Amino acid sequence: MTIDTCDFKGKKVIVRVDFNVPLDENGKITDDTRIRGALPTLKKVLADGGALIIMSHMGKPKGKVNAKFSLSQIVDAVSEKLGVKVQFAPDCAKAADAAAALKSGDVLLLENLRFYPEEEGKPVGIDKADPAYDEAKKAMKESQKKFAATLASYADIYINDAFGTAHRKHASTAVIADSFDADHKMLGYLMEKEVQAVDNVLSNIKRPFTAIMGGSKVSTKIGIIENLMDKVDNLILCGGMTYTFAKAMGGKIGTSICEDDKLDLALDIMAKAKAKGVNLVLGTDCVAGDAFSNDANQQIVPANDIPDGWEGMDAGPETRKLFAAAIEDAKTILWNGPAGVFEFDNFTGGSRAIAEAIAKATANGAFSLIGGGDSVACINKFGMADKVSYISTGGGALLEAIEGKVLPGIAAIKG
Ligand code: AMP
Repeated sequence: MTIDTCDFKGKKVIVRVDFNVPLDENGKITDDTRIRGALPTLKKVLADGGALIIMSHMGKPKGKVNAKFSLSQIVDAVSEKLGVKVQFAPDCAKAADAAAALKSGDVLLLENLRFYPEEEGKPVGIDKADPAYDEAKKAMKESQKKFAATLASYADIYINDAFGTAHRKHASTAVIADSFDADHKMLGYLMEKEVQAVDNVLSNIKRPFTAIMGGSKVSTKIGIIENLMDKVDNLILCGGMTYTFAKAMGGKIGTSICEDDKLDLALDIMAKAKAKGVNLVLGTDCVAGDAFSNDANQQIVPANDIPDGWEGMDAGPETRKLFAAAIEDAKTILWNGPAGVFEFDNFTGGSRAIAEAIAKATANGAFSLIGGGDSVACINKFGMADKVSYISTGGGALLEAIEGKVLPGIAAIKG
């Protein structure tokens, strides 16, 4: 069953969304992207004549009630966006009566699921080293099943539209799905879009395929780099991680960020790329700064000959041209991680050049997926969000999907 083919008329539908929105100190929402992301699914259920039970987590209350993370703070915003006065259930595990009373068109928002440790299913107050830990974990898994069954009992149909937590096997994102048969559980529109976007870069690839991996550390990206190596034509490596490569090849990198224990790994990646016929694109020059600061003095130097006391902080002009050439002809593009310290306005040039090349390729018909917190922040900083094909809403979930891992939230529905 899919959300498009399902008729929700007269049904109670429990939807897991990601309403983990940032709030300011007065509890006001500072970015409502996540709420807007879930609206198509929520509106489809209401338009069909269903009743909605919405559930989400917010922040990390660690299994305890904490007013700072109460979803009551967003009831008005959700009401306004849905055009329906949203009811609130102050205890997500004791909402049976409120759910039973819902009529077609009604909406009930449950309090933060993570006020219960059962949501995440991790035993609390016991250390992993404790001999009793395994027993505690087993007991917690049992109570997690009960918690999930309670949530499931509120509704006829379950929809998961929370891509941001799809890589977690939590009560509301995966375990709950066991209570519904295949005709009564489905992905929401946002999830469907994310799954499609990942499929476009992992399976349904139009060539050439250029992946751009940046950011500070090669160690955190290695799983993705290895999985992509079998798929891409061009692999651009940029940002802080590339100084580990420069050093591994015998270059001088000054005070640039470097993972000294990953020099062999860098050489191994280069050898693998060669063996697989992947065009590995590394920068040739960089913008070096004499301090880790926006106001640092700058000079353009070879990426493998950075003077002592200077650090590589952005891609240089020659490198930007190399990157753009490998991006502009591509028909599939994936970008994760900036080419420099983009948070400093004086070191955004490399990341901006990448964003511009992606925009150009997209205008020429390429599919471009931008994912992972920092590249999304880059695209937004440059005001170019509407010039790429898809911006993923799920940082960790997207990265795990691209690593080729099965996401529990999706597997629970699709099998
Ligand atoms: P990551 O979390 O690994 O995706 O890395 C993102 C971070 O890498 C951003 O905060 C960037 O500022 C940082 N970054 C990118 N290039 C460099 C660089 N050359 N030196 C230090 N940090 C960098």
